[in-house]
Amino acid sequence: MAEFRPGDAEQTAFLEQLLDARLLIDSGVPGVYGRGEDFERVRWAFDGKVSEAAAVDEPERLAFPPVLPKRRIEEIGYLKSFPHLAGTIFCFEGDEEQATEQEGKAERHEDWSEYQSQTELCLTPAACYPVYPAIAARGKLAAGGVMVDAGGSYVFRHEPSGDPARLQIFHQREIVRIGEPDTVAEWRDAWRDRSVELLRSVGLDANFDVANDPFFGRTGRLLARSQRAQALKFEILVQIAGPEPTAVASFNYHQDHFTSVYGIEMDAEETTAHTACLGFGLERITLALLHEHGLELDAWPAPVRTELGLG
Ligand code: ZN
Repeated sequence: MAEFRPGDAEQTAFLEQLLDARLLIDSGVPGVYGRGEDFERVRWAFDGKVSEAAAVDEPERLAFPPVLPKRRIEEIGYLKSFPHLAGTIFCFEGDEEQATEQEGKAERHEDWSEYQSQTELCLTPAACYPVYPAIAARGKLAAGGVMVDAGGSYVFRHEPSGDPARLQIFHQREIVRIGEPDTVAEWRDAWRDRSVELLRSVGLDANFDVANDPFFGRTGRLLARSQRAQALKFEILVQIAGPEPTAVASFNYHQDHFTSVYGIEMDAEETTAHTACLGFGLERITLALLHEHGLELDAWPAPVRTELGLG
């Protein structure tokens, strides 16, 4: 169950400061906020830093909407690992009488879900998911594989929380590498150092650690243990508000999971294709910067402002 997790005292206070400073705009639902101009300036500035750092590899830039055919999360097994985080889109498909009943219930803020039917869409839970079938559709991959910059698409995770760093909907800036296992591993190691440097260059005390995903249930605990044991997930952690540092970027090495689901193959025989992705949580990085340097951008240290091109 995705129950509301209240923030601790420090997180609650930080959220209040962000709302008071109009950096975030309350929607009435925890983890869903509008953003003020300064917040967006910082988010875009860091997004630009990622583009700059990625440019040396000349990735192909693809963009996808924040909704995904539900078939996608069915075929990759998302509902087995994260049934508690998925957001599904439902729409009205009834007659006029039912529309009137629905409206009546909605006006009284009662439950009107009985009039809603599941559509073929869900909310995108990870920005890299649409990339794999798109690449698979092109046929076999030439030596060296492909690198895709999937941009900074909105992703949804149903985990309402009072911690401003745990949003339900946020921008995940993803870069995806598909190729021979060695190529993918080298890419990941290079980006691990590059990402830490990138975050440190804007004054964040970023550190790197082995991690696991928040898999669901009892089987999930086994999955999490095996993911850690094989070091398939790394995170870059930065202290925001709260007792523990927060992950602001993560690397996932999926081995042949996506390539076997979508039949992605290397052109050379006997060579398997693997995938890995790197995701920057742009809102978390923005929050980390605001937490570290203060809520007034004009008062930020000059080298940080210069690095981010904030003038
Ligand atoms: Zn990913």
